[in-house]
Amino acid sequence: MSNDASTPALTQLAEDEILLRDSVAEFAEAQIRPHVREMDEHAKLPKELITQLFDLGVMGIEIPEQYGGGGATFFHAVLAVEALSAVDPSVAVLVDVQNTLVINAIIRWGSDDVKSRFLPRLASNTVGAYALSEAGAGSDAFAMAARAVADGDQFVIDGRKLWITNGNEADIFIVFANVNPDAGYRGITAFMVERGTGGFTVGAKEDKLGIRASSTCELILEGCRVPKANILGEVGKGYKVAIETLNEGRIGIGAQMIGLAGGALGHAIRYTKERKQFGKAIADFQAVQFQLAQAATELEAARLTVYNAARLKDAGQPFTQQAAMAKLFAAQVAERVTSVCLELFGGYGYTKEYPVEKFYRDAKIGAIYEGTSNMQLQTIAKLLLK
Ligand SMILES: Cc1cc2nc3c(=O)[nH]c(=O)nc-3n(C[C@H](O)[C@H](O)[C@H](O)COP(=O)(O)OP(=O)(O)OC[C@H]3O[C@@H](n4cnc5c(N)ncnc54)[C@H](O)[C@@H]3O)c2cc1C
Repeated sequence: MSNDASTPALTQLAEDEILLRDSVAEFAEAQIRPHVREMDEHAKLPKELITQLFDLGVMGIEIPEQYGGGGATFFHAVLAVEALSAVDPSVAVLVDVQNTLVINAIIRWGSDDVKSRFLPRLASNTVGAYALSEAGAGSDAFAMAARAVADGDQFVIDGRKLWITNGNEADIFIVFANVNPDAGYRGITAFMVERGTGGFTVGAKEDKLGIRASSTCELILEGCRVPKANILGEVGKGYKVAIETLNEGRIGIGAQMIGLAGGALGHAIRYTKERKQFGKAIADFQAVQFQLAQAATELEAARLTVYNAARLKDAGQPFTQQAAMAKLFAAQVAERVTSVCLELFGGYGYTKEYPVEKFYRDAKIGAIYEGTSNMQLQTIAKLLLK
């Protein structure tokens, strides 16, 4: 069969894709790398860094140009998240939530009014957050207790959201609440809520194992009034907004996982060539070479699942199963690869002097957020057996 140029290999990137990936990687190296340890220790992202991310153009990748965004594809967002994660997965998740959850949901479900009020801000200077989970509603997200009651041309929202990424930095929040609990999940509705709205406060920040610089906060809504015009999608269709956005978003988490695994592997390759034991570089020992080779092979396989899911989404093809597989597998590979990389640094790997222990801690979140690994297996099995 001839080599058809219209079906390139999954890892073969178009010129604009290479340009974006390389410019993000360069930025991460120069502007993020020097601050990674400090941001991890203080569990904080500097404000200036967020401004720089807007200037770089990675905070509104898919936003159509008419709203001031990059007008690029979901795959571009995946490449940006991967490149940032190779240096700091905490910075990457800020960008990931902004693009693959918040902006994605607004582009897909927002009315013209919602799009024109929120997208230009998200493209230029405003961070977004996506608030579905609650203390009692995690994997079973639709068991949420948050309620919204219609009152004239407003809804009044009461409830608490937990674990909300970007809680400290965001000014625009997509908040899910149930307008008709008797209808079960068919009462769930998505609302655009702005910081500064009466009755809305951002609560405590979690002190976490990994991705420490990414804020994870509680949101408190007490008599929070939002105009009906701030409904995202339709009343009672919030469950669709949530499911479909998360189906896409989890490809971004797959990208975060392959990015951080690649970052850890790069450090391990350099270190094993330098570190000498028994009179030679430890990379000269076949056992070490095989550990690196195994890690690189698993990473390549995970990258293919992530790229394939993203390409399927951009092509308008079904991708739910592939997205669940990509997130599940990339999270597993990230845990294995960062673990072996840490071991290859020996005792030094166990200290904060080298960056691998952070990648090891950061990797664990991949099996938890945007659906735990069990939830991904459930989705895959459901589609296999239907
Ligand atoms: C750092 C961080 C950032 C987050 N960011 C956000 C965010 O921005 N927005 C947001 O809305 N949420 C966010 N979350 C919440 C996250 O999505 C939930 O933590 C996750 O969905 C799991 O819910 P849970 O913590 O309640 O665990 P649970 O649902 O209680 O799960 C506990 C364990 O039980 C297992 N389990 C549960 N049900 C089943 C079942 N039916 N079958 C098999 N196993 C099952 C799970 O796999 C898991 O191992 C974040 C969480 C963290 C830790």
